[in-house]
Amino acid sequence: MCYYHIPVNAVSELVLRNAELFTGERFLGPHDLRITEGIVADITHPHMLKLKGVRELDITGMWVLPALCDLHAHLREPGYPQKETIATGLAAAAMGGYGLVVSMPNTKPACDRREVYDMQLELRRKAVSALNDGALPKLKPACALTVGRKGKQPVDFEPLLAAGCTLFTDDGDDVGDDSVLRNVFQALDRAPLPQDRMVRVMFHAQSKRLMRHGVMHDGEVSWRLKLPGISRESEDVAVRRAIDFGREYRRAVHITHVTTAGAVDAIRRAKEEYARANMEHYLTCEVTPHHLTFTHEDVERLGAAAKVNPPLREESDRHELRKALLDGTIDIIATDHAPHTAEEKARPMTQSPFGIAGLEVALAASLSATDAYEKQEQAARILKAMTSVPARLASAPPHCGLLRERDPADLVVFNPKAQWEVNPQEFAGKCKVSPYAGMKLRGRVKLTMIGGEAAYGDLDELERER
Ligand SMILES: [Zn+2]
Repeated sequence: MCYYHIPVNAVSELVLRNAELFTGERFLGPHDLRITEGIVADITHPHMLKLKGVRELDITGMWVLPALCDLHAHLREPGYPQKETIATGLAAAAMGGYGLVVSMPNTKPACDRREVYDMQLELRRKAVSALNDGALPKLKPACALTVGRKGKQPVDFEPLLAAGCTLFTDDGDDVGDDSVLRNVFQALDRAPLPQDRMVRVMFHAQSKRLMRHGVMHDGEVSWRLKLPGISRESEDVAVRRAIDFGREYRRAVHITHVTTAGAVDAIRRAKEEYARANMEHYLTCEVTPHHLTFTHEDVERLGAAAKVNPPLREESDRHELRKALLDGTIDIIATDHAPHTAEEKARPMTQSPFGIAGLEVALAASLSATDAYEKQEQAARILKAMTSVPARLASAPPHCGLLRERDPADLVVFNPKAQWEVNPQEFAGKCKVSPYAGMKLRGRVKLTMIGGEAAYGDLDELERER
């Protein structure tokens, strides 16, 4: 415990009493936190802080955790402001407890050059200055692997690396041509890589050739509905290819949204091989909250609201995803927040675009889907997969995803006992179509604080609830 002196300002100072503290690594039990001047000044055992004239809030039973980090969200700007903007996407993230979001480059134009990268950061700055008070999550744009995401020619990596980009992906599409993918890896080999941060290639691992015109998982439900299916093979083949490229070029590879038992099995075995080749931590992967929550059976009930790429699979796959997440084979939970307009999502299955918007519900959905409330060890694993681990993969500033004394106060107050019904009309993002609509979830984000300022929720309401 540390006691040092920061000028005490009663107005900008707050003490959260009796919070169940999660550090980004583990639960520490009930603690008090003093936040002053935007910094976590003290973390102490309860009742050790004796302060006068300071606002105090007893939040017994609630969790305090580091603000979450999402490695995979589609914020749609520039190009598709009718679906989402950087301002509304970050507001959705704040509602979900996020402090940092990595945006995907499938914008229009694609984020394949410095101007678009800078424009996205500028749009965030404008959104922040348009707020009367409060804050917005940080933004870290990922950039494309190929020019225009067309899968033909590698981007010019140098200016993007110089700007601070560490994540590269053609997400939404696989770079299908092996010779182009070789050119991409060779171009990265020649590029001036930063010494202090790891550059990662994020693979949208799905073979377009094998996917064909599928709109949902290829199985009993697609056969019954007479809809074109997407085989497990289309993912399994592409995952094995990503693993091979990473190993051959000794480059960090992150596989986005895994959905099949076969992909999980291949990654589990490959991680052992990577470790033997002194490439531990070079292979990582993610799962989405919706693949932990739903299966293809739900698509029959939900229609295009549950149309997503890769598709919702079978119960046996979902079981493997949960298991792999808890044993660490799957490193992180990423939202793949992919908003569309109501009109687009109202179209029939074959014509509606792929995508589920889910930043707002990701934490409660992930904890609910894994029965994590029953076992603290399990809850810690899920929280870690949404805080410290993705922050490390994003090469985020060192305090991101962790809750420590003297760091900026980027944190979340979460009520693990709250029972609520999801109403997408209340979402902060633009997309109000959601497979979670009407679903009863446990656990709710009450407050998201970034740099000591509220990005979502407010203290008065939290106080009234106590
Ligand atoms: Zn995506």
